[in-house]
Amino acid sequence: MDNYRTYLSESEIPTHYYNMRADMKVKPAPLLNPATMQPMTAEELSVVFCEELVKQELDDETKFVEIPEEVREYYKTFRPSPLVRAKNLEKRLGTPARIYFKFEGNNTSGSHKLNSAAAQVYYAKKQGLKGITSETGAGQWGSALAMASAHFGLDCKVYMVSSSYEQKPFRREVMRTFGADVTPSPSTTTEVGRKILREFPGTRGSLGCAISEAVEEAATREGYRYVLGSVLNQVLLHQSIIGLEAHKAFEIIGDSPDIIIGCTGGGSNLGGLIAPFMGEVLRGERNYRFIGAEPASCPSFTRGKYLYDFCDTGQICPLAKMYTLGNGFMPSPNHAGGLRFHGMSSTLSELYDQGLIEAVAYEQTEVFEAAETFARAEGILPAPESSHAIKAAIDEALKCKESGEEKVILFGLSGTGYFDLVAYEQFNSGTMTDYIPGDEDLAKGLSFVPPQPE
Ligand SMILES: *Cc1c(COP(=O)(O)O)cnc(C)c1O
Repeated sequence: MDNYRTYLSESEIPTHYYNMRADMKVKPAPLLNPATMQPMTAEELSVVFCEELVKQELDDETKFVEIPEEVREYYKTFRPSPLVRAKNLEKRLGTPARIYFKFEGNNTSGSHKLNSAAAQVYYAKKQGLKGITSETGAGQWGSALAMASAHFGLDCKVYMVSSSYEQKPFRREVMRTFGADVTPSPSTTTEVGRKILREFPGTRGSLGCAISEAVEEAATREGYRYVLGSVLNQVLLHQSIIGLEAHKAFEIIGDSPDIIIGCTGGGSNLGGLIAPFMGEVLRGERNYRFIGAEPASCPSFTRGKYLYDFCDTGQICPLAKMYTLGNGFMPSPNHAGGLRFHGMSSTLSELYDQGLIEAVAYEQTEVFEAAETFARAEGILPAPESSHAIKAAIDEALKCKESGEEKVILFGLSGTGYFDLVAYEQFNSGTMTDYIPGDEDLAKGLSFVPPQPE
């Protein structure tokens, strides 16, 4: 078949999430309690997280987890998402490669994050909670949470990274329109926020700071729990719906990818896209190349260290073993391309450490050049984050042009860029600059990593 877009039908939306960890022989390292250096128990995690999500977080064995009927019904309002053959991009590049992308930007929040927000908010509601707290960087996660909270009827409190709160007022208003309460972070309303402001005067925040604030609020407020939009195992589990749909769509059109690419912030869209394909690799059934594309200004895979580190700057979250730049790492202020988190999903970190995933890092101007090429060819304005994957896909397609190989490339188009026009403006007017952290910047970030377990 030679379709431009391939859609599954609503009834073909997967009934189960797929848990990649079940097929890993060496499992991702467990979360540790920083006070005891022992694995976090379900009981300890339940102070901050919803019960069902704690169960999913700790479950390395169950391969398929049923998607609740209510969540599947909600998915039907924005899924299945299309698998698109980027024929016009292929033509422009003059490549013999076949390029496909799985497009997750077709909902108001504009990204894949709604896939996990839907599940997390549903489980919180089912537990009888009043509300949830979380952080948002660029605002996609907050918008997704606000939408899901409006749908399932839950109170939603979002700490928004201060630089984004100022730069992206439109996302803030999307959240408020869907009923969320939005506070710029670091704020003076939490203890940890006040501490961070004392230590880093004038900081415009980071995802790590905002996480600390949201966790503190959840732990201290009756009937509230914290939810996280990336990094955690449970989030990768929910995002597996992206890969499961893509896998099925490839079967329908009778094609199959050789290379699978995603951008990486905390790793959830890449982890979700590759999940069923990685499962085949882990079970020894097939081989694929998997590539994570990250910003050179926040290069956790390519220049980070595989260590136990805090997930947050305030050092109140559990320790996760991951490729990390150190919880004190702050991307340079000129960085406009998203993907600002200092660490990487422990599942993807373990797979990367085993050599099953490759990684590349790009400077932001070259990423926006790729975004422009893609937009003009395919008619979709991509999110800056997703454009890292576009850049990697274009590079691979150009290698095929050189070698004459007809490879099949799949990349995740994790979202749209309609709320990122300040960054596009910088690019279009030539004021966007690149900054690659020096070794001394990285050493400073890593100095915040706590002593490692024996
Ligand atoms: C949040 C976000 C990302 C990065 O998060 P991951 O967990 O690494 O997927 C990538 N793309 C878009 C559009 C996002 O909103």
